[in-house]
Amino acid sequence: MIEMLRKINLSRAVRTMQELFPAEYDFYPRSWILPEECQQFSTQIRMVKESNATLNPTFIVKPDGGSQGDGIYLIRDPGDLKPTVGSQAKQAVVQEYIQRPLLIDKLKFDIRLYVLLKSLEPLEIYIAKEGLTRFCTEPYQEPSQKNLSHVFMHLTNYSLNVHSGNFVHSDSQSTGSKRTLSSVLYRLAAKGVDIKKVWSDIIALVIKTAIAVVPELRVHYQADIPPGKPGPTCFQILGFDILLMKNLKPVLLEVNSNPSMRIEHEQEMAPGVFEYVPSPVDEEVKVGVIRDTLRLMDPGRKKPSISHLRAGRLDHGEGIPMEAEPRERSPDEGALPSLCLKQVYPKYAKQFNYLRLVERIAALFIRFLGVKGNMRLGPTAFRTFIRTCKLSNSNFSMASVDILYIDITRRWSGTTPESREAGMGLQAFVEAFFHLAGRRFKSLPLRERVASLLGLCEAQLEAQTTGAEERRSVSCSRAMPRGNPKTQTPGLTHPADALLGSPAPLRRASSQDYRLHQRLKPRTLRANVEN
Ligand code: ADP
Repeated sequence: MIEMLRKINLSRAVRTMQELFPAEYDFYPRSWILPEECQQFSTQIRMVKESNATLNPTFIVKPDGGSQGDGIYLIRDPGDLKPTVGSQAKQAVVQEYIQRPLLIDKLKFDIRLYVLLKSLEPLEIYIAKEGLTRFCTEPYQEPSQKNLSHVFMHLTNYSLNVHSGNFVHSDSQSTGSKRTLSSVLYRLAAKGVDIKKVWSDIIALVIKTAIAVVPELRVHYQADIPPGKPGPTCFQILGFDILLMKNLKPVLLEVNSNPSMRIEHEQEMAPGVFEYVPSPVDEEVKVGVIRDTLRLMDPGRKKPSISHLRAGRLDHGEGIPMEAEPRERSPDEGALPSLCLKQVYPKYAKQFNYLRLVERIAALFIRFLGVKGNMRLGPTAFRTFIRTCKLSNSNFSMASVDILYIDITRRWSGTTPESREAGMGLQAFVEAFFHLAGRRFKSLPLRERVASLLGLCEAQLEAQTTGAEERRSVSCSRAMPRGNPKTQTPGLTHPADALLGSPAPLRRASSQDYRLHQRLKPRTLRANVEN
């Protein structure tokens, strides 16, 4: 999760979705990856400025692994990118700076929303209906050469602003430099803002972002965690940082894989003497998130769902399109307040399922990975994928397939430290898939090309599965009297068989089936994991 949500990886994942669904993914600022796209960034900005001299965009540069505002700076010209030192150029994202954020009390603020990724398969997402808002401590002005370095004006990070003399620690939820989201939404509602719309836009942003990162997560997950039951399952609480633009459109700034759950803040009691004191605003938001996560993840509970009862406090979730689902309460739960985590997926799956194309590409990728624990596709596995899905023909020979493989993996190698390993990672495979879709369905828009090729591949695999099943049942009925069924344990299938599409692995591997690798794992190993 940490890997996946680093700024560069998140930008790449969202960018892939932007290629497929530009309108749906317009909530993420335009971004370039440094150092590899430095030239591209400079050229594009020069062209923009030449085409319209009144345009004077600002950009924010964020180091890849950074957090809490560390190393972030604003620039107005590509020439102001800080030179990178050493042979290993520093990885960073340079991003279009949102110049007109919504202001409250003349201050810029952002929203920290807690999201529980309860499970990857099936995808289950919960959003905390209460969140935090973090305020800057210097009145906002649109960026100018003079104010670019004013961090208390432009960066909303608590960790930075807490050091400003203007930071206000307040016990009230609706004043101070850190407030609850509901207090801000109420204030906006009082001004006539349609907060239901704002909230449903935020939910859509969260679901779409999750859909963008889930494919890569699945690849990591299948390598580490054996699928199926029994065995370990994982969940994660994520911190989404969201900015509201002046026109109330939410913009995704970043996703924190490990958001702070601290409910105290440091206070200087006497010069140089610091103490941790309770922070009621943090407590109001975070205690509920942790409590609900534990309630939802409780392995003793068969079917967690959401209580109806309200706690009798501010509840902006009321009227917002996230109805609670009634459920029976267990006696020991009687005193617990209502859940603040609301399920948004699969609840709204119907509206968003069409976006899950890359996940289907990832399913193909995982299927052809072969050996459990593997996360990169070798040249033979790539050929097997092409052959099994019948993608080569007289116009696209296997020699061209090899060239495509070499070309794409070479381009991707060295883009990130881990990509230097041999083989084709998911992102490179997605690029290859887009390329193949373009060859096959030239006249269609990209998303339709990709969907058509996916349909084709999945149908091929399905047909082979059915054919294999039929062949298998015929041969089984012939062989049965003599053979011992135990010797055909699917878990002992040779990995090469999976790559070659032999009957045993194909039998179970439908288009949505990611479990192939479990079957390739020796029993003893599985037992260790389960114990
Ligand atoms: P970090 O992980 O270091 O906190 P962020 O991406 O959250 O990095 O950026 C830090 C702060 O900079 C944000 O909280 C926000 O106030 C501001 N910021 C980040 N990206 C943008 C952007 N594209 N436009 C405007 N402000 C931004």
